[in-house]
Amino acid sequence: MYVRAKKSLGQHFLKDLKIAERIVESLDTSLTGSVLEIGPGTGVLTQHLVKIEGIEFKAAEIDTESIEYLQKNYPQIGENLLEGDFLKMDMNKIFKSDFSVIGNFPYNISSQIFFKLIDHKDQVPQIVCMLQKEVAERLASPPGNKSYGILSVLLQAWYNIDYLFTVEPGSFIPPPKVKSAVISLKRNSRDSLGCDEVLFKKVVKASFNQRRKAVRNSVKQLIEGRTPPDSYLFGMRPEQLSVEEFVELTNLIYC
Ligand code: SAH
Repeated sequence: MYVRAKKSLGQHFLKDLKIAERIVESLDTSLTGSVLEIGPGTGVLTQHLVKIEGIEFKAAEIDTESIEYLQKNYPQIGENLLEGDFLKMDMNKIFKSDFSVIGNFPYNISSQIFFKLIDHKDQVPQIVCMLQKEVAERLASPPGNKSYGILSVLLQAWYNIDYLFTVEPGSFIPPPKVKSAVISLKRNSRDSLGCDEVLFKKVVKASFNQRRKAVRNSVKQLIEGRTPPDSYLFGMRPEQLSVEEFVELTNLIYC
């Protein structure tokens, strides 16, 4: 049996088995007793993950053909293969306790996957994933860098992010048009940001929606007629601001 790669599902199957091993080895299995793989496809990572002793393993896959392939080739997964759209799954029903996330993510929905994972950050201490190289760089980028953006701030608020290695298009069937990279995200020790977290997200999003402008202009609609104390932060552009400065800005707006 063979799974035809479907572009609409972001299917690029990793064929380099050494890289698959490296990705799985990057997962620290001592952090949680449970692991969720997003988009197992034809199981290049799954084949290793099902063998890790002492963990509860589940995988979420949307493609019926891949599901059939996995059930046939890795029957030991059984009920732990969840068929459906990860973006629509109820995370609280997947595992009862904390779980790590691993996967060669479908590149077309990788941002949406991260927005969902951020909403469950306290359940997810670790993420190891392959992404489009550009996106991986963006997420790991420090302030002051051109690629620093909304997800860099929202993820770096809660996770320490390491760029692990680059993967060339030729390592996949079919080869994607872009380079890929593997990153690791580990939950930092923050248990709160020290500001209204819903407003924080709004401030970050509004600021980067006009990334060339001083944040003063972008956050106007969030201030709603109040007069926040003046601060140099309002004169900065979003890409210059660290997580801590966005927190400060959020508190100024909320005053
Ligand atoms: N892990 C495999 C496949 C990576 S391609 C490998 O490394 O070879 C991305 C995989 O994500 C595909 O199997 C695709 O069917 C699956 N996928 C795409 N959108 C998805 C979604 N919304 N929910 C779950 N899986 C999805």
